[in-house]
Amino acid sequence: MILLDGKETAASLEVAIKQRIARLQECGVTPGLAVVLVGENPASQAYVSNKDRTCQRLGIYSRKLELPVTTTERELLAIVEQLNLDPQIHGILVQSPLPAHIHERTINLAIDPSKDVDGFHPTNLAKLAMDDPSGFVPCTPLGCQYLLKAYHIPTRGAHVVVVGRSLIVGKPMALLLLQKGLGGDATVTIAHSQTRDLAAITRSAHIVIAALGRPHALGREHIGEGAVVIDVGINRIADTSSARGYRLVGDVDFENVKEKCSAITPVPGGVGPMTIVMLMQNTLTACERLAR
Ligand code: NDP
Repeated sequence: MILLDGKETAASLEVAIKQRIARLQECGVTPGLAVVLVGENPASQAYVSNKDRTCQRLGIYSRKLELPVTTTERELLAIVEQLNLDPQIHGILVQSPLPAHIHERTINLAIDPSKDVDGFHPTNLAKLAMDDPSGFVPCTPLGCQYLLKAYHIPTRGAHVVVVGRSLIVGKPMALLLLQKGLGGDATVTIAHSQTRDLAAITRSAHIVIAALGRPHALGREHIGEGAVVIDVGINRIADTSSARGYRLVGDVDFENVKEKCSAITPVPGGVGPMTIVMLMQNTLTACERLAR
């Protein structure tokens, strides 16, 4: 079994990203990313700090805006509008989940599509569906695809089952895999909570991409002999032996499937680091396009 090491793959991509940033800086341009966090969700705080650290390591200007949970939708829209106009900022990310009184779709719509490095604006999702490379692709699916390419796992003609149909992961993942060319050309099935006999469908896959948000939901019975498994899930489960009181596990029961599959991503250290490095790459691309 091959461990698909997202940490190592992301680190080698960071080297190339740093070189591109150095070239921009020679022309007096520094890519800038604004990350907006509303409220005090501990998991979101951890993600945002991680993004901030990665920006600093790569030479990307990072602006972290931490807003109280009482922030209104109108106030958040005004902040997004300012960031849209700010020449120091090339990428804008509003961390989800947002408090219930703020509509995520309204906020996503307000972000200038040319700064939408998360790729959630309808313009960018439509470009993905239309195979138009001028948009931005959501970072997690892009990271999964990059990992498959980095490990030379062919998708052409392969049956890929994506479990999960969210706009953040499942749907854009399926669209990417359907595109023509390297990392695409797959035969894609999307499964979700209403799918009948999930195990029979996932067992028939050459590649399973799990994005359910359910700890250890997929076990041996879901994976065919020699299949490749990409585990997108990040779930916190209670663990009294850990100083933090919890540990992170994926949507796949790693120990249970590791002898059956040919390759698998670990959690943590698989898709997570790839998502962050893709955010950096999208920010850099946004800067290069806006600097032209
Ligand atoms: P959502 O909750 O938005 O979507 C989950 C999807 O899984 C839904 O489509 C749901 O179906 C489906 N689902 C739920 N239960 C089952 C089941 N028993 N059988 C089949 N399908 C099921 O989650 P996200 O897409 O946002 O995230 C998925 C996971 O990925 C989470 O663990 C999240 O933390 C993680 N994540 C990790 C990232 C990373 O960087 N590694 C980035 C983003 C997310 P239905 O539509 O019918 O409800």
